[in-house]
Amino acid sequence: MSEAARQGLVICVSGPSGVGKGTIIREVIAQRPQIAHSVSMTTRPPRRGERDGIDYHFSDRATFQHMLENAEILEYDLYCDHYYGTPRRPLEQTIATGRDMIMDITVPGSLAVMNAFPECITVFLLPPSLTVLEQRLIRRGTETEENLRRRLQKAREEIGMADHFQYVVVNDDLQETAQRILHIIDSEHCRYHRIAGIEQTILAR
Ligand code: 5GP
Repeated sequence: MSEAARQGLVICVSGPSGVGKGTIIREVIAQRPQIAHSVSMTTRPPRRGERDGIDYHFSDRATFQHMLENAEILEYDLYCDHYYGTPRRPLEQTIATGRDMIMDITVPGSLAVMNAFPECITVFLLPPSLTVLEQRLIRRGTETEENLRRRLQKAREEIGMADHFQYVVVNDDLQETAQRILHIIDSEHCRYHRIAGIEQTILAR
């Protein structure tokens, strides 16, 4: 079996702010706890209820910069004035044990992961409409008016990049969307190149 076959899958989930990436990823993991979540570093201040080390590793800019210089961040992006990045070591260690890892990242972040891990799985989440997206962001109540406007502007740009992704799922129902992502992951595990040689193992039994 090839090296890529023994490793866990890297699953990038991108989509505009408010589309429900975090909720969907939590549901996917609730249903399949063996999938690990990549906890990102961010310089954004925590929102109410967010826990350091669980939702994000919250850090100041100097610490983020230091980690970048030491190549401890696999990819990063500046999003609405804050840095977000994927810690390299936990990702590499997790997939080396054969465990899948799912990440919630911006579109440029997914493009960078595609370069670093050409075998990664990329999923773009779309809202049913821009109106629904706006309503979700308003209902979430975490953004100022100005930030809301910027996030909606960013959303239009990000949606225009959906064609860079292998899979596109419209998130109009939490359970259905989580199921679709689990089906994608299961199908990817059945691709021949990931399990090449399995038939020989079966024949030898
Ligand atoms: P939020 O502030 O809503 O938690 O996240 C803002 C954006 O940053 C979201 O689109 C989210 O997917 C993205 N993001 C979170 N962590 C990372 C990361 O490690 N790398 C990149 N490139 N984007 C991230």
